Amino acid sequence: MIKLENVTKVYKTGVRALNDVSLDIAPGEFVYVIGPTGAGKSTFIKLLYREEVATSGKVFVDGQDVKKIKNWKVPYFRRKIGVVFQNYRLLPKKTVFENIAFALEVTDTPKVEIRKKVRRVLELVGLEDKANAFPHELSGGQQQRVAIARAIVNNPKVLIADEPTGNLDPDTSKEIIELLEKINEVNKTTVLVVTHDRDIVQKYKKRTIRIEDGCIKTDTSLGGYNI
Ligand code: ADP
Ligand code: ADP
Repeated sequence: MIKLENVTKVYKTGVRALNDVSLDIAPGEFVYVIGPTGAGKSTFIKLLYREEVATSGKVFVDGQDVKKIKNWKVPYFRRKIGVVFQNYRLLPKKTVFENIAFALEVTDTPKVEIRKKVRRVLELVGLEDKANAFPHELSGGQQQRVAIARAIVNNPKVLIADEPTGNLDPDTSKEIIELLEKINEVNKTTVLVVTHDRDIVQKYKKRTIRIEDGCIKTDTSLGGYNI
């Protein structure tokens, strides 16, 4: 589902954020990406949804060479990938329903279909009773659930979560990770979670890729933070 071949990313400033990185992530895998600040984790993720383009090497997502996607096709390509962030990034003046429906309205989905799809994802994330609430009326964990619902409503092949529990307490963090696991299991979505949370990486033993100084330091299917 995701393949990097000798990928190097050098920013205009001369910073070498990734250095000759190669890796393979199969469809349906659940992967943690860990490593210190400045290691290159965000750069790796940005290459996947073409927020950035590799300086050299190749990035493939779902068999597509990301660099070769024409600019006008990038929005279509991005529908294959759902992304959630640490700070949720919900639209504050829109309701939960509208925040999620928004992702479908840009795709010309008929209204009846939109309602059905939004209801289905709200049920999946356990917020069917919050459709008419505004983001500020929800807890952080609930807001992150809405962000996840929005990220998966187009049925993406890949779900990327960049520090999804960074603003949440330990119990809520576990709930969010368990929700991501459920989406991985039920929808067979390939899930990547970038995290600094040692407890989570230790508890939910999954493939863990550690990036340091722009290189993959370790990559183990056993999981655990101290590898
Ligand atoms: P992480 O997500 O692991 O904290 P990043 O991928 O954000 O790491 O950053 C890797 C390195 O690249 C850092 O030195 C960072 O300062 C640098 N960097 C990230 N984005 C840019 C950018 N847009 N322009 C220049 N340097 C950048
Ligand atoms: P986050 O909190 O998500 O890690 P950052 O504050 O590290 O975000 O980065 C915010 C934005 O600035 C990102 O788009 C990142 O690529 C960019 N950035 C990070 N480091 C640098 C840098 N050294 N020079 C220019 N842009 C950078």
